[in-house]
Amino acid sequence: MAENSTTSSSTDGPLIDTPEQATSTWMGDGSRRWLYPTPSRGFYWYARQALGWALIALFTALPIIRIGGEPAVLLDVINRRFVIFGAIFHATDTVFLMLFLLIAMVSIGVITALFGRVWCGWGCPQTVYLEFVFRPIERLFEGSEQQRKSLDQRDWDFDKLWRKAGKHASYLVIALGLAHTFVAYFVGWDALVRWMTGPPGEHFGFFFMMAFTTGLILFDFAYFREQMCVTVCPYAKLQSVMMDRDSMIVSYDPNRGEPRGRRSREQRKKEQSGEDIDLGDCIDCGACVRTCPTGIDIREGLQMECVSCTQCIDACNDIMHKIGKPGGLIRYASEREIEDDESPRFLRPRVIAYSILLVTLIGIFGFMLTRSQEVELDVLRTAGTTFERQTIEQTPMIRSRIRFRVRNKLDAPAAFSFEARSPEGAELKVIGPPSYRLDVNEMRRIEAFVFVPESAYRDSASVEGTFAVMVDGTEKRTISMPLPGPEPSADSTDSTRN
Ligand code: SF4
Ligand code: SF4
Repeated sequence: MAENSTTSSSTDGPLIDTPEQATSTWMGDGSRRWLYPTPSRGFYWYARQALGWALIALFTALPIIRIGGEPAVLLDVINRRFVIFGAIFHATDTVFLMLFLLIAMVSIGVITALFGRVWCGWGCPQTVYLEFVFRPIERLFEGSEQQRKSLDQRDWDFDKLWRKAGKHASYLVIALGLAHTFVAYFVGWDALVRWMTGPPGEHFGFFFMMAFTTGLILFDFAYFREQMCVTVCPYAKLQSVMMDRDSMIVSYDPNRGEPRGRRSREQRKKEQSGEDIDLGDCIDCGACVRTCPTGIDIREGLQMECVSCTQCIDACNDIMHKIGKPGGLIRYASEREIEDDESPRFLRPRVIAYSILLVTLIGIFGFMLTRSQEVELDVLRTAGTTFERQTIEQTPMIRSRIRFRVRNKLDAPAAFSFEARSPEGAELKVIGPPSYRLDVNEMRRIEAFVFVPESAYRDSASVEGTFAVMVDGTEKRTISMPLPGPEPSADSTDSTRN
């Protein structure tokens, strides 16, 4: 573990002594401490591996498979159109997007409060691809951790050259595949295939974007690695506010393990015969530290760098099995369980509050989704206008100028037209063509005159006008607005009342 800086008492030396190791992955002189974690293949490793491959298949398939004719997930930022499991959102669906983000954030809050950084160790693409794709390729070309370490330290020769070249060439192929998958989330699989198979000169931007994304992925998985989790990802910094003493985290049990220490032959004999040797179960073998992909020692307690990958659990369980002791010296446990020997409490105020909020948000989201419209529609009276009297075919009418704002939220272009539905005898005359063809997500403002028989204003100076929007000849939505008119005269009011 990192040593703390100490103030120097010497007047000749530096004021502050620099620790040899500043963090688990950086030395005091600012150089990177390259990690060579040894994989520990135990129960959790195989469980994570199975889940990891299922997730890799899912991450790859999501932009390709179709639900209702749309990609399962499409984040078309340029056209501001988002498809998530068949539901289509536009940038104007601010409430939906906000709710979706809130649901994601509160879900992370609930999961973190219950199980700590379980997402980081089990589901995050950074961990999944690094542990189950890139590191296995590295082991294939460069061998075990000790072999890799000595390979890195020795001078260049043909053996080192072909191993490094083979590894990086394989990384490049994988990174290209990942970059295409990543870009497919934003442009859609069809466009991606069109660009890939079209003449390169016509899609220069695509090639630039692909090269840039591939470069970033290569940099991340070949060099940056655990730094993404310990220095860049904001989740690590937020976890402490989301967790409490009852969160289930990967923990070392000092009550059982301390005082730690290696055993002499004599002590081993005594221990095997059941005698007390004044030592805890931790034999200080260092297997949990050697396997840690972020280079920390879990025996020092919960640290920001821990990604909850459970590798130290598998490593220690294996050691415990070898020395004939029960596993679980490092295990999933809450701080309360470790420190106070109490059972974990799952139902607690924080979890209940997060869960109620989550269920409420999902409920609102689902309710709004079922009511979401295929046509976005507003209607207003045109600013600065008032009603006018007009006689049409000997019927006195009140004419008002109104404006529709309509957006096509269907999945295909369509023809939009409008009709008046009420009050009785009302007519609508659109200024311009009787119908407008709108592309997907296109918005148009359409001016119109509405004619209402003057008799409709017998009882009131305003009547409710209702208009229908027709899409390809079929009524899709109606919308209402007040239509001011003349004050009812005393005569007409009296005659109505009588
Ligand atoms: S693997 Fe277990 S026994 Fe070995 S040092 Fe870690 S905690 Fe102690
Ligand atoms: S301390 Fe254990 S769980 Fe945490 S990152 Fe290291 S190996 Fe994984």
